[in-house]
Amino acid sequence: MKSNKQRRAEIKAHRLNRALAQAARLRAQDVRPLRADDEYSPGRELADRLVLQLHNNTYGMLPAFYVARPFTCRDCGAEEVWTAKQQKWWYEVVHGAIDSRAVRCLACRRARRQCLRNTGPGANLLREQTDRLRALGATKPNAQAEAEIEAALQSKWWSLRVVAIQTLGRWGGAENLARLHAFMAARPEGGRRYFGWERVAADAARSALMYRERST
Ligand SMILES: [Zn+2]
Repeated sequence: MKSNKQRRAEIKAHRLNRALAQAARLRAQDVRPLRADDEYSPGRELADRLVLQLHNNTYGMLPAFYVARPFTCRDCGAEEVWTAKQQKWWYEVVHGAIDSRAVRCLACRRARRQCLRNTGPGANLLREQTDRLRALGATKPNAQAEAEIEAALQSKWWSLRVVAIQTLGRWGGAENLARLHAFMAARPEGGRRYFGWERVAADAARSALMYRERST
């Protein structure tokens, strides 16, 4: 029998694939106009145009449906899906501007919020450290690089820890890959509202392993 963890990982991978396929179809113009009476599709949410009109000055540009959008996190490069449900919430409940899009994963959004709250030299420093850690991923690991990654994994900034996890994935090797699998195995059970480092780490590790599969 499959564990909930495996099921969830499969669902997330399936969702990503479906969104990528959908995006490819949209790029290829191989899509008929969506109609409100279209049959139910699991990746799709009906838009409430009346609500949208109240909060947007755009006329004639409002969607009839939301469809899952794949995106690459601007900060850490993780492959993510902005689900139709999340879009409906963003546009109709929080009243996000209709032309706004998801650009960052959960961990990076959180890190950015922390960063913006403590403005000052810290914000740039974090960015520099992130770039530096990412650059390490493209080089062969040595003792100093490994020590930097270990330190980053203990950082108070989750985005640095996420990049450290990605770097372990780029480096590969039995030991590093075992660590990624350990992060994935430690993903806590809990509803979608639960948000903790273990969950972010598990998702980052899964993303790092998927990246390896694609690039080999
Ligand atoms: Zn990210």
